[in-house]
Amino acid sequence: MAYYAQNYDLFLTATQSFCQQCRNLNRLIDTHVVTKDKEVYLRKFCPKCGESMVKISVDFEYYRQCEAYLKQPDLPEKALTQVLRGCPYDCGVCPQHQNHPCLALFNITDECNMKCNICYYAAEPGLGNHRSMEEISRMLDTLLGTESEPDLIQVTGGEPTVHPQILEILQFLKKSPVRHLMLNTNGIRIAEDETFVKALSKLGSGFEVYLQFDSLDSRALKEIRAKDMGEVRRKALEMLERHNISTTIVSVIKKGLNDREIPKILEFSHRYRCIRGVVFQPIQEVGRIEVEGDFRITLSEIRQIIIEDKNNPFTAEDMIPLPCDPHKIGVGYAAKVMSSDEEGKPYATLMPVTGQIPKEMITEQRGTVAFEQDREFVRTIVETVSLDTAMGENILADKIKSKLFCCWPSFLSPTNMGYENVYRIVIMEFSDIYNFDTINIKRECNFMIEPDRVIPFSTYNMGIARSQ
Ligand code: SF4
Ligand code: SF4
Repeated sequence: MAYYAQNYDLFLTATQSFCQQCRNLNRLIDTHVVTKDKEVYLRKFCPKCGESMVKISVDFEYYRQCEAYLKQPDLPEKALTQVLRGCPYDCGVCPQHQNHPCLALFNITDECNMKCNICYYAAEPGLGNHRSMEEISRMLDTLLGTESEPDLIQVTGGEPTVHPQILEILQFLKKSPVRHLMLNTNGIRIAEDETFVKALSKLGSGFEVYLQFDSLDSRALKEIRAKDMGEVRRKALEMLERHNISTTIVSVIKKGLNDREIPKILEFSHRYRCIRGVVFQPIQEVGRIEVEGDFRITLSEIRQIIIEDKNNPFTAEDMIPLPCDPHKIGVGYAAKVMSSDEEGKPYATLMPVTGQIPKEMITEQRGTVAFEQDREFVRTIVETVSLDTAMGENILADKIKSKLFCCWPSFLSPTNMGYENVYRIVIMEFSDIYNFDTINIKRECNFMIEPDRVIPFSTYNMGIARSQ
């Protein structure tokens, strides 16, 4: 075995991962984080398969920036499992975990009206298994045991809108102490059922739709979703716009397929008043996803495409690491004002704000969700945003709180601004057998909620936690 060849430039740290060749999830292997030609790799040592390298960043400078943004952990209020075998075999959440559930996912059904090639859950028509209200109530109790005031609950599946009690479930969760509720959907029911959309609009502020939107190209859609979903997505967005329902569109990005479409997707998102932002998710190898050649893309590559796009205003300074999980989540926020283009079509003018906020203000806060309780911090944000905004004459006149995102501070803004004036770009990378490492997994802040456990999204999807 060709161990310890000098095939790297810098050794950064040691961690543990899995071998993507023998795919043994019961054996962690020694892994080094190293640099080579300004890129960052996991250098893995498998006793069976030998040495391998997995690229985790194409931008060593940004990787270092991520380390600089790392903040004090905001821990779950209570652990639900014990440390017995060690990470990642004690998920649930165990006392070693270094982050609270910023985003709690409630999987309410295994049933779906699609069969996407990239489904994490391998959902498809006929699987059924709708969770009962009693199970969902237990899931909520379990979450509240670790997080008494959750930031964000996302109702997901399968396809949650096929659950016969979907509205009842949303209304039930909306009444819980959660700050923000999201419905993760493929958009089919939203495109076809206006009565349903009207009922969603009655959920009011603090509710948002998280809509699949991977591409504007039918070939790419067929490859990702096994179906050209273009028309469905456009109809769904028209419906959401008509009923003024806050919407985030989410694109799974596969290298060589839809990565170069990122600027077009951003441009498209500027056309809708209801769109609060775009989430880009690098494709990962879980569920039904098969590995074919060099399809992997890293967070840093997506970030580079965004900041090199001359038609959107986000610069390198505006796309920063999220302090609670900096290597896995990158964010950029902007103030948004709708106007019209030269053809009279709606168009958003965006003013990025993240680059204006001093890093210390973001990283020195006590907890990820407690920014708005720090009066000095809020005052500085107000000044920062106000100095750089030219949106209206009554700057700072009558301040209102505009919630941006669960991990980000609420900020005070000019009087005529609200949540509809918020636009964000998020790049969210999850772990799979390639990029998994036992340091970063402890910082994961997206959790699957089960009736008795709270499991990091990646270990759940990789089948590690579910196989216990
Ligand atoms: S991923 Fe988190 S919850 Fe799971 S075993 Fe590791 S530290 Fe514990
Ligand atoms: S990705 Fe979503 S829409 Fe596609 S099969 Fe899976 S659950 Fe259904």
